[in-house]
Amino acid sequence: MNHLIEKISALASISDQLEPSERERDQYNQQIQQYADRFINTIHDRNAFSNGKVNPGSLAINGEKKSLEELLDLYTKEVTANGINPASGGHIGYIPGGGIFAAALGDFLADITNEYAGMYYASPGAVTIENELINWMKSVFGFPDNAIGNLTSGGSIANLIALTAARDQHQIKGTQINRSVIYLSPQVHHCIHKAIRIIGLEDIVIRELNLDEKFRIDPNYLEQQIMQDEANGLYPFCVIASAGTTDTGAVDPLEDIGTIASAHSLWYHIDAAYGGFFILTGSKKHLFKGIERADSLVIDPHKGMFLPYGTGAVLVKDKKAVFHSHHYLANYMQDAIADDLDLNPADVSPELTKHFRGLRMWLPLQLHGIEPFVACLEEKLLLTQYFRNQLVDIGFEVGPEPDLSVSYFWYPSKNMPAGHAGLDENTFNKKLMELIHQDGRVFLSSTVLEDKFVIRMAILSFRTKLKTVDKAIEMVKDAMAQLLK
Ligand SMILES: *Cc1c(COP(=O)(O)O)cnc(C)c1O
Repeated sequence: MNHLIEKISALASISDQLEPSERERDQYNQQIQQYADRFINTIHDRNAFSNGKVNPGSLAINGEKKSLEELLDLYTKEVTANGINPASGGHIGYIPGGGIFAAALGDFLADITNEYAGMYYASPGAVTIENELINWMKSVFGFPDNAIGNLTSGGSIANLIALTAARDQHQIKGTQINRSVIYLSPQVHHCIHKAIRIIGLEDIVIRELNLDEKFRIDPNYLEQQIMQDEANGLYPFCVIASAGTTDTGAVDPLEDIGTIASAHSLWYHIDAAYGGFFILTGSKKHLFKGIERADSLVIDPHKGMFLPYGTGAVLVKDKKAVFHSHHYLANYMQDAIADDLDLNPADVSPELTKHFRGLRMWLPLQLHGIEPFVACLEEKLLLTQYFRNQLVDIGFEVGPEPDLSVSYFWYPSKNMPAGHAGLDENTFNKKLMELIHQDGRVFLSSTVLEDKFVIRMAILSFRTKLKTVDKAIEMVKDAMAQLLK
């Protein structure tokens, strides 16, 4: 017996290291705080993109302990110095994420208290926080009180949950699969195609819809397709619209698609991962008319609410359809199911145990109120206009008036100076893109639209400001000068 106690004590003296003393915690806190301060204070001076390579060996786990100081140095050198700096306002290439400070505080608290956010029974408070966030989003998007929702890791899993519910409500299985039809835009995010395969609908009929000149679904074409498919004995069951496509930021005609979806009893899914929160702005609210008609809706707070990566959301009206795949009564959870009044996040998601991600959204919303979030979204819309105006002033052509804050531009051959007149437009813009990436002050990306190579801007970082766009213009001018010298 004594032997046992001795052994336990010996082990405890080692395992106690996992619970640092108050003094050690103070030291760690100071080091981390200093690091964070330095990171934030210098962020506007640092490049948004760097082509640097990582030395993988330096990050390998060898079981030895190292000092926090050493690890922070390593983190700077190998992690934050390379690739895109996603916390930078200069990240206007891919749809940027956020990383507001208050969210980090929420994460810290969530990790320290480690509340269990999967089941109401385990943490009624944490789950209520998540459910209140869902309630808030239901009210923002005009969803009814009895709709349900979930905070996911991002838009991909949120889309997966929504499409699973669509499949289950319409009982698309077995021999039904290859005569059922999903309608979507060629501009739909690729995670939708992944989700369709993951949920076993690989053999379904997918109809890519015609788009108008602003890359929005043509609702007349949608209706014609549905009627033709119905006439041919197929089973149209789901239409997917986007409120803000990734490539061009286009908002599909949500109301018209909703009318067609109800007329033909289709599940109406809207992917608003990027664009959704622009519904809060006075200037763009009208574009979202009809979003409340969706059966399921995806929004990404780690985009439009400026949270750090790791928070998406899904809202679904038909609780039964969601529960069909996700609600499960295991014997070892019998204590947890006594109370079925409050929604368990685990009944709405493939996840059981999950990070208490509600706190990183709840704390900022409570701390700041909604006003600065809305102002930030309006600011991004105007910065997009400003960027486009500045580009036109220096000879670029820009895509059509953007719905939201994604747009694109290219340098047209007709504006090339005499000595360079023969240059192919796509080749020229590709070279320009390379130079911009080499520069890295501001990160832009490119895409191909109808065989045209274009440079893309996506303004959504809360740190993108007027001076960031001015810097971007300087950078583009410098790259032009280099190309045309
Ligand atoms: C970002 C995005 C997604 C994917 O979301 P993740 O959070 O990256 O998983 C899906 N759809 C649209 C429109 C997006 O912009």
